[in-house]
Amino acid sequence: MAQVRRRDEARESGEGGIRTPERGQPPLRDFQSRPFNHSGTSPGRPSVAVGKRPGQSESTGPAPKGGKGSDGGGPTLLLSIDFEDWHQLVRRRVGCSDWERPGPALSRQTDALLALLDELKLRATFFILGMAARAHPGLIEGLAARGHEIGCHGDRHLPVHSQSPGEFASDLRAARATIEQLTGRVPIGYRAPAFSITGTSDWAYDVLAAEGFAYDASAHDTPSLRDRPQAAKGAPHPLELPTGQTLWEFPVAVWHARLGGVPIGGASYWAVLPSTLVLRGLERAGPLAGLYVHPHELDPQPLRPQLGGGAQLKARLHASARAVQRNSARRRAPAMLRAIARRFRLIPYGDAHAQLSGAGGTAA
Ligand SMILES: [Zn+2]
Repeated sequence: MAQVRRRDEARESGEGGIRTPERGQPPLRDFQSRPFNHSGTSPGRPSVAVGKRPGQSESTGPAPKGGKGSDGGGPTLLLSIDFEDWHQLVRRRVGCSDWERPGPALSRQTDALLALLDELKLRATFFILGMAARAHPGLIEGLAARGHEIGCHGDRHLPVHSQSPGEFASDLRAARATIEQLTGRVPIGYRAPAFSITGTSDWAYDVLAAEGFAYDASAHDTPSLRDRPQAAKGAPHPLELPTGQTLWEFPVAVWHARLGGVPIGGASYWAVLPSTLVLRGLERAGPLAGLYVHPHELDPQPLRPQLGGGAQLKARLHASARAVQRNSARRRAPAMLRAIARRFRLIPYGDAHAQLSGAGGTAA
């Protein structure tokens, strides 16, 4: 709450607090024409090796099989995977006592996802959930080696606004410890579970910077999320924090149409919107708009909750309803990702951050 006051005061006074660009004045006017390098020799550094300070330059490693990254010729978009175990989350939600055991499908989902990224010659940012990584260490270890950026999705998938700043910092540290141990990388990017940094929990930006993160990818100006921070709107931009540190913010793609905002950055939206509308919206979503998919949305087989024999009927019905909802997104996600890749350049968040922050923090 204190952060909100600081930001409001900053807007009014023009000094102090977190400073963000005004909506409609993206700081990156020229980046659409900026020559992003999509090869394995990209100057970007999606993550850095253990022992280096976050933000230090490092090669991202080899590109996926096929060499160059995606270049659909259109505007550049940022591609991310919120890497989590759907079965863990749904079992916890319905109260299963053994919810933390590894889900039965993440391995299959990851294989399908990586095969699709290879097919499309894409590198992506994997925002990895700590508890999923611990349950599936073998899946995590290979991601960085394939040239993908390693980011952080927190540890327990708890809403940021439900935590205190200290609890949030502890969650970040737990996730990073797991991620660093399994990948040898220190993630510099973060995405909040369910985009849950709100106006009353925007102290999270200070915590992220204090914990060494260089950018946040949680801003999502969708009407379904209440209490959005002001920073959720607009193009990627630096947040100038009261500590003097800078945290870059990369919003999820939202098409601000005449009649209101249309979220189009995630596979759950692709399930219900005509593909032509999604593609048209992405053309107009603004610079470096963010896309996100989950491994379960690329599952070649239907999602089945598999709660175990002791689950009550209410829990079974709830889990089944969630499976039906997710299966509709799962059916369309691969084709939509192919269509988007044909039309747009898709790069990891870290590549964009490296170029923008390397340009001095503003391109306006
Ligand atoms: Zn998530």
